[in-house]
Amino acid sequence: MIVAANWKMNLNLSDGAELVNDLFKGMPQLSDEKQVVIATPFLHLTQTAGQLAGMDHVHLGAQNCHHEAAGAYTGEVSASMLKSAEVKYVIVGHSERRQYNGEDDAMLAKKVNQALANDMQVIFCCGEPLEIRDANTENSYVEAQLKNGLFHLGADHLKNVVIAYEPIWAIGTGRTASSQQAQDMHAHIRTVLATEYGSAVAADMTILYGGSCKPSNAAELFACPDVDGGLIGGASLKADEFLGIINAMVNA
Ligand code: PEP
Repeated sequence: MIVAANWKMNLNLSDGAELVNDLFKGMPQLSDEKQVVIATPFLHLTQTAGQLAGMDHVHLGAQNCHHEAAGAYTGEVSASMLKSAEVKYVIVGHSERRQYNGEDDAMLAKKVNQALANDMQVIFCCGEPLEIRDANTENSYVEAQLKNGLFHLGADHLKNVVIAYEPIWAIGTGRTASSQQAQDMHAHIRTVLATEYGSAVAADMTILYGGSCKPSNAAELFACPDVDGGLIGGASLKADEFLGIINAMVNA
């Protein structure tokens, strides 16, 4: 299981350092089976890498990478730069980047390739907007996101991908998917993966839930058989809240 923090565009350098220090103090015993990722803004990466250096099973993440390897892309950051900053996980396809930065499936597939080519793990986000959920077409919507973003990969590369199901109507809204809604979609995602890659590969994939996950609902969500942890936005910005969610994973 994995609990991953997505700080988004929050926290200046000193706030970030303090948050990681506070997490350090309260961190429960982690293991190969129970791991934590902290995805910071680019600016924080080297600072946070230094803080995480002595911490077992807590990994540095980035929130994006460019879809090309290098070149004249002012203001952008490549996957190989992230790798050189000790980044282990790259979030690709977050709904906010799809929506506000015009990242389409073809671009996301290239970003996935860049991250994997640089030996990092991908946290690939998928999830439907409210109108799709209201029309009961969320299963085919998410299936298309997975096919277009990931299914060009062979099974040997797919194993370096973590999938995060994040219904857009639940992100930052305080409205969480019920554990049944989360379980149903996670089971669907695993079935889609099994159809493409076989049931052994599908069973081994880590599928996170994201969307207003907090200490009060994390245990119930993480108890679902196909929910393998969470991608956490707002509640990852406060040490006590994020530690509460980490503890829910450790106790799951
Ligand atoms: C996210 O940004 O991935 C997310 C799940 O945000 P929040 O936890 O704030 O809903």
